[in-house]
Amino acid sequence: GAHGTPPPPKPTTIPGVRHVVAVASGKGGVGKSTTSVNLALALRDLGLSVGILDADIFGPSLPMLLGINEKPSLKDGMIQPILSHGVKAMSIGLLIDIDQPVVWRGPRVMGATQQLLKEVAWGPLDVLIVDMPPGTGDVQLTMVQQATLSGAVIVSTPQDLALIDARKGLAMFRKVNVPILGIVENMSSYLCPACGHEAHIFGHGGAAEAASELDAPFLGGIPLDMKIRLSADEGNPIVESAPDSPEAAAYRRIAKAVA
Ligand code: ADP
Repeated sequence: GAHGTPPPPKPTTIPGVRHVVAVASGKGGVGKSTTSVNLALALRDLGLSVGILDADIFGPSLPMLLGINEKPSLKDGMIQPILSHGVKAMSIGLLIDIDQPVVWRGPRVMGATQQLLKEVAWGPLDVLIVDMPPGTGDVQLTMVQQATLSGAVIVSTPQDLALIDARKGLAMFRKVNVPILGIVENMSSYLCPACGHEAHIFGHGGAAEAASELDAPFLGGIPLDMKIRLSADEGNPIVESAPDSPEAAAYRRIAKAVA
């Protein structure tokens, strides 16, 4: 394509971790965390050893999504990740009081981000999924520069605005030579549970179009579905709670494309 042959994956800088994959979005609320967690569980089901790092310092949601609240322990000076649903998990939300707003400024935030990468005993892992904070600010850059990412998955809703933001995210990764593994269209369709009619509440095909225009793979759509939200709120993501559902299958397709 227009961007030439992607460079070969660089070794990650996290001991014992083979690949680090960022899940990013241009703005908040598009389902990036929900996608991260279900993708992590779908990769686990492919037989990979998986970790998930919640790098959303200002809105950590991993503890809720995986139903964990225990404080991590220290061993040999390293923070031990929490094992939940068969994946290693760590979130700033487990290290601080989740009910207190984080009012840190840049250096403190970047320090915390580095800590989550370098002071957590992640290895051995096949893949570490990093649930990135939305947008393209300092934390994102720290992460991109320090973690040596193997690739990035961009989550977007079909709405144009979200796609414009998603384009910025894509450009950020490309600037630092991180391969774009693909674009996921979340909340892509709605199947009415009462009458079976399929509606495209946020429009349709936007992400697929943008993907081809941006020379990035389209990884498919995830439907807008009440079960996805309910299972996420209960700390039992849909890939785990309804492994054979069409919604779980949508996440599994993404996992296969990424693995
Ligand atoms: P982000 O990480 O982008 O801020 P979240 O993953 O936290 O977004 O999702 C925002 C809200 O939307 C959550 O309540 C989540 O349960 C819900 N949600 C995400 N994806 C879907 C989906 N495909 N269907 C229904 N609800 C969803």
